[in-house]
Amino acid sequence: MADLQEDSCSSGSTTYKQVQAWTDSEIVLPWLRAHPSKWTTFVANRTAEIHHTLGKNIWRHVPSKENPADCASRGMHAPDLINFKMWWNGPEWLQKSESHWPIKTLLQDTDSEIRKSTLCHNTIINDKECNEIHELETRYSSFTKLINVTSYIKRFIAKVTKRNLNCNTFISVSEFNASVEMWIQIVQHKHFLQEVTQLRKKKLIHTNSRLTRLNPFLDQNGILRMVSRLRHADLNYNEKFPIILPDRSHFVRLLLEKIHRETLHGSAQLMLNVINRKFWIIGARNQIRQQIHKCITCYRQRAAVQK
Ligand SMILES: [Zn+2]
Repeated sequence: MADLQEDSCSSGSTTYKQVQAWTDSEIVLPWLRAHPSKWTTFVANRTAEIHHTLGKNIWRHVPSKENPADCASRGMHAPDLINFKMWWNGPEWLQKSESHWPIKTLLQDTDSEIRKSTLCHNTIINDKECNEIHELETRYSSFTKLINVTSYIKRFIAKVTKRNLNCNTFISVSEFNASVEMWIQIVQHKHFLQEVTQLRKKKLIHTNSRLTRLNPFLDQNGILRMVSRLRHADLNYNEKFPIILPDRSHFVRLLLEKIHRETLHGSAQLMLNVINRKFWIIGARNQIRQQIHKCITCYRQRAAVQK
């Protein structure tokens, strides 16, 4: 993401007088310009490492369309790359004096990303709020509808409190994912309250907990995850540390129904494989069987085969 350049006043030898680093992310730039202690652990760890490696006051903003690294992340055919001057030489202004370099004014609300994430954590620690919002869960019989409605409500609250002025008609992927994450936290808070409370206090969970054998822990976003036996395998984070979800939850039933449709009325084993890429649902096999059993399409298909 960051595009490293030699400064124009470098000596030209292997020893550099100055290094200038560029990023096209308006969100990351304020993170890099402030002290890591200002941010949450996740952001602080990463910005501290970048500061340690490159230095702190060397970061500038480059517009995405003038970022040479952009084509590397987007992908480009080799014949096009040969003639793509920006990749080989950088943007034109970089060969001129510093007065020609673009100047980016920082957004006024530079830490809005951080505050949003803090807000997200706070919404689940209040039992009353958790119970109130839980009523919303049972109003919908579709996972997508539940998440979309939640996203619109969150957007409305953000607008009213002037934290966000997003005027798009449709729900973005990040809004959708944030709502899914919020519901996961709410469901975990309701079904695993004791375990979540203990882990938040950095204490061990009770030995009589049904989650003990899963070695549960809270991730950076406060989501309860288990340590998989495949934690040393070459898998992604979600597969090594799946999110724990309870049985007998309306949210889980909606999730299973969605996965069943997305796998084109897939078998129990297929559904289990898809689920285990991200989740560990307690009693998953039984719940999946129930889901398939009550599916009208699968019922008709079974009847047709029996003839
Ligand atoms: Zn089906």
